[in-house]
Amino acid sequence: MLNTSDDRIVLDLPMFGGRVMLVRTYSEWNAAVTELKGDDASHNLIEEDSHLGCEVRIAKSDTCPITTFLVGVYDGTRRTLLHELSHATFDICGYYGIPTDAGDANEFYAYCIEHLFHNLFRYFKVF
Ligand SMILES: [Zn+2]
Repeated sequence: MLNTSDDRIVLDLPMFGGRVMLVRTYSEWNAAVTELKGDDASHNLIEEDSHLGCEVRIAKSDTCPITTFLVGVYDGTRRTLLHELSHATFDICGYYGIPTDAGDANEFYAYCIEHLFHNLFRYFKVF
């Protein structure tokens, strides 16, 4: 189920019990992190020009009603969206007990699928 709240886009993950929240600006990212992490927010706040995109898991807590995989895409491109969703997918799998490689393997996969998608998607119609 896809729904919107303010400028955020929230996709429930009913098969896992979590949700993905998509934001498209630095200020939306910082507002979401501050709201969902409360006093623990400082190390996940970002500054303008620091990233094209970002992803972080925010566990269920007093300030976060449901485990949230927060995805930020700041350059408005499909390739960055796919890159960050790749990180989110690794994070979702790891969180729910599906074995995954963290760190460099995760980053390599994200860049690889981003490159393939960016160069091959042009051959498909956009709906
Ligand atoms: Zn990455």
